[in-house]
Amino acid sequence: MQASQRIAGLLGGGSDGWGVFNTARQMIADGVAVTELTIGEHDIRTAAPILQEMHRTALAGHTGYASIPGVTALRDEIAARVTARTGVETTRANIMITPGGQSALYAAHFAVCDPGDRALYLDPFYATYPGTLRGASANPVCIQTRAEDAFQPRADEIAAVAAGAKSLLINTPNNPTGVVYSRATLEGIAQVCRDHELWLISDEVYDTQVWEGVHLSPRALPGMAERTLVVGSMSKSHAMTGSRIGWVIGPEDMVGHMINLATHTTYGVPGFIQDAALYALQLGEGFEAEIAAPFRRRRAIAQRVLAEQNAVALVPAQGAMYLMLDVRSTGMSGEDFALALLKEHRIATMPGESFGTAAAGHVRVAMTIEDGAFETALKTLCAFAETRASGR
Ligand code: PMP
Repeated sequence: MQASQRIAGLLGGGSDGWGVFNTARQMIADGVAVTELTIGEHDIRTAAPILQEMHRTALAGHTGYASIPGVTALRDEIAARVTARTGVETTRANIMITPGGQSALYAAHFAVCDPGDRALYLDPFYATYPGTLRGASANPVCIQTRAEDAFQPRADEIAAVAAGAKSLLINTPNNPTGVVYSRATLEGIAQVCRDHELWLISDEVYDTQVWEGVHLSPRALPGMAERTLVVGSMSKSHAMTGSRIGWVIGPEDMVGHMINLATHTTYGVPGFIQDAALYALQLGEGFEAEIAAPFRRRRAIAQRVLAEQNAVALVPAQGAMYLMLDVRSTGMSGEDFALALLKEHRIATMPGESFGTAAAGHVRVAMTIEDGAFETALKTLCAFAETRASGR
């Protein structure tokens, strides 16, 4: 019996970019000590009081089917938070709770694209994007950004392929580059969306991790609230990756359609997890800053280490839990560099090529290990790059 072409073709063929990661995991399984700077997962676990609230509300009986759009109090809390942070009047009718940002990305594309519709996204990209777009039966169209622009997208290059497209997916603060889109970038993008009647799907799951500049939600730009679907999540902001809780924000009628989708797919998010998420959000901005603090600290460590050498250049590290390192001075591809670093020094990074073609000759480092070990690993990486660069 055959699988559908839709599911069999989800990955789109070719390398899935996880080769170095899988090799590292195999080495670890074989008992080798590997320093993993690969995936975006905090080195702390979900805070105990959040788990205690989860336990309390589950014991109190919130274990049945929960409201499919999401628990009212949680949607109200998110609406208030978004209204305060963006100035766009937002109510619970604009919000649906989802099992993580991943599910929100899928729902958003499913809601705006018909089968075969062109759905635009930017390279480098978060690894699951093309598969998510294909999963929603859209036709993913990739637009390159450039290292020389610090990976800020050029509006004219988006406009050049926008005619007839349905949607544009952006992500700021950005995974994998760590770049935060400037106001000028976002205004240019908004203009393209208005000119070409595009839906903007704005992935803002790193909005609490901004080290330089400010996060601007493009939904707040003129004429954008009616054409923007914002993807949010508790994974990164509250170290709740395993709780699988996020949301999508958009015009009321679109949220209604996505609630229909949820009714026929996820059937909502467990009530006790939503209650814990509400509790976590009510801990306020101070708690979010605490969760972000280790990355802010490690970014400073990286800036200090990188200032002392010339082989590795840092893409402006403005936000999110990653650093994008330019290793083109070595003459190696990101993939070859990452593999050699893994083999010689047992340090695992993600090749830039895992995220498309625009970040070729780069490696992404997740700032997700303890400060001292992080500094040592970075120093080793830089020394390795220097050896390779000088041996050319
Ligand atoms: N968007 C981006 C850019 C991400 O990096 C991730 C997770 N790594 C997600 C969305 C999905 O996160 P989650 O489903 O855990 O909310």
